[in-house]
Amino acid sequence: MHNWPGLIEAYRGWLPVSAKTPVITLHEGATPLIPVPSIAERIGKGVRVFVKYDGLNPTGSFKDRGMTMAISKAKEAGCEAVICASTGNTSAAAAAYARRGGMRSFVLIPDGYVAQGKLAQALIYGAEVLAIRGNFDRALDIVREAAEKYPVTLVNSTNPYRLQGQKTAAFEIVDALGYAPDWLCIPMGNAGNITAYWMGFQEYQQGVHNHKLPRMMGFQASGSAPLVYDTTVDNPNTIATAIRIGNPVNRAKAIDARNASNGAFFEVTDAEIITAYQFLSCKEGIFCEPASAASVAGLFKRKDEVPAGATVVCVLTGNGLKDPDCAINNNDAAFHTNLDPDLDTVANTMGF
Ligand SMILES: *Cc1c(COP(=O)(O)O)cnc(C)c1O
Repeated sequence: MHNWPGLIEAYRGWLPVSAKTPVITLHEGATPLIPVPSIAERIGKGVRVFVKYDGLNPTGSFKDRGMTMAISKAKEAGCEAVICASTGNTSAAAAAYARRGGMRSFVLIPDGYVAQGKLAQALIYGAEVLAIRGNFDRALDIVREAAEKYPVTLVNSTNPYRLQGQKTAAFEIVDALGYAPDWLCIPMGNAGNITAYWMGFQEYQQGVHNHKLPRMMGFQASGSAPLVYDTTVDNPNTIATAIRIGNPVNRAKAIDARNASNGAFFEVTDAEIITAYQFLSCKEGIFCEPASAASVAGLFKRKDEVPAGATVVCVLTGNGLKDPDCAINNNDAAFHTNLDPDLDTVANTMGF
């Protein structure tokens, strides 16, 4: 769409906003649905595969979809400061949108487990960053209490406006395809996004009458798979730090989405995540962060169950630039260093 106004204006009729709501937007949304033929070829059976590349949002993750709504509603309510716990992307989005709305933002992060790009964003956007010696789940407990006791609004995915904003990604997929996919593959951390997508597909079906509903296929990292094993994980661990969450706040809603959609939850190992991450970059030219690659790793792992001729969408939740260390430490590139600065050396090294 030419001159995309941001998702609140684009989908105003589907969102809990009124003429009084001050719209705080960075023109998020309208991210591309990109065909990924090399992945489709690997699945075979005439299956069509697309990625919803939400890493192209203004702060580089789908969190912007939720944050434009949460911050606009906080502003409408007269709030002056917001708080969140974050594995990184929520803090980047909260910081950017809060500052744009003239509010303070406090972010609690697990010390040492936030990717460099995300930390850089929270700092440059002017958040007040509090790194705790504890994991995400502990940080969330603290911010929930803080929001009860102090004049700060919680903008984690317990905030219902977050899910309202995020459901627009499902609208965009249906708008792009003309129908919903047969499978939606998505990584799960707190499981807010899978909940929001399911809500979006259902509401759009009821309002637009044009599609069947997808099976919701949720994937978690093996070291952090509380939804797969129907448990809580005290010390979650995975290279995919964005989904390093042991006690998902949207557990019940995600289980409902799975059951109602005849979907399924599966785990993928860190090695499988990295394989998919490299495949996306090297074969498709699409750089996402490791947590996002869990959706493609999951599709590869469950490929025997994909029906022939099906349409599959994998959600790529965040941009690869968020976590440069992961890319630098996990590639098969030819990286020749310390070369003499002359053509012969360069040509020789190139194999000519
Ligand atoms: C937040 C996040 C997730 C997990 O989303 P939930 O709604 O918590 O399940 C996955 N990938 C990335 C990149 C994220 O930032």
